[in-house]
Amino acid sequence: MFTVASKEVLLDGLDRAEKFRPELGEVVALLRELLAVSAGPHRPALPIALDEARRRLIAGEAILRDTDQVVDTGVLAGLERAVKGILAGRYRRDIPQEAIAAEARRLFLRAQAWTLAEHLGEVDTAPSFRCPVCGGEPALAALSKPDGKRLLLCGDCDTEWLAPRLGCPFCGCEEPSRFGYHPGEDPAYRLYSCDACRHYLRTVDHREQSEPLPLPVESWLTKDLDQAATAAGYQG
Ligand SMILES: [Zn+2]
Ligand SMILES: [Zn+2]
Repeated sequence: MFTVASKEVLLDGLDRAEKFRPELGEVVALLRELLAVSAGPHRPALPIALDEARRRLIAGEAILRDTDQVVDTGVLAGLERAVKGILAGRYRRDIPQEAIAAEARRLFLRAQAWTLAEHLGEVDTAPSFRCPVCGGEPALAALSKPDGKRLLLCGDCDTEWLAPRLGCPFCGCEEPSRFGYHPGEDPAYRLYSCDACRHYLRTVDHREQSEPLPLPVESWLTKDLDQAATAAGYQG
């Protein structure tokens, strides 16, 4: 099973985030613009037939392989132009082409993930550490209500899926002595780290929140916004 938050869910999450953190207004406005682009007329066709996509999903392979993630180059080019226009309009300076291409590719993959989730999201699959849609690594983990199941959010395409309860999602290490646990000031947030591979993962505990935000919004409001700031020439 996997899901990808819809445009409506994301817009509602952005509205709520802005209410309790009004200082994020400008960033939220940027995210709304980018969301409008990716949900607009640029939705790319799938590069493979649904039957083959289902076969790969059930076999535990990523549905979209590196080699066929970007076959619709016309759509990707359109997204790049749109992203460039949005960022240039907001930051009024040259944005590195790399940053524009990376954001456009993310919007491209998410649009494909939306289509795949509509058709295949209900297919029963084993818990995994890799994104079932694109094979990407997680950007964020969430412990769901009420049973604390661990969900992961893909950093490349915004797909959410069920992960094994234990173990490092990056290297698979299962030795508890290698894991660090860093609680935040807010009991809903913590950082897990792994000594074996030196990765960390932000985790939000939905059992500690009355109205959790959609995971992509949680992720945007922290790490991804760092990237937008970096793209605009800021330093963390
Ligand atoms: Zn993915
Ligand atoms: Zn690890």
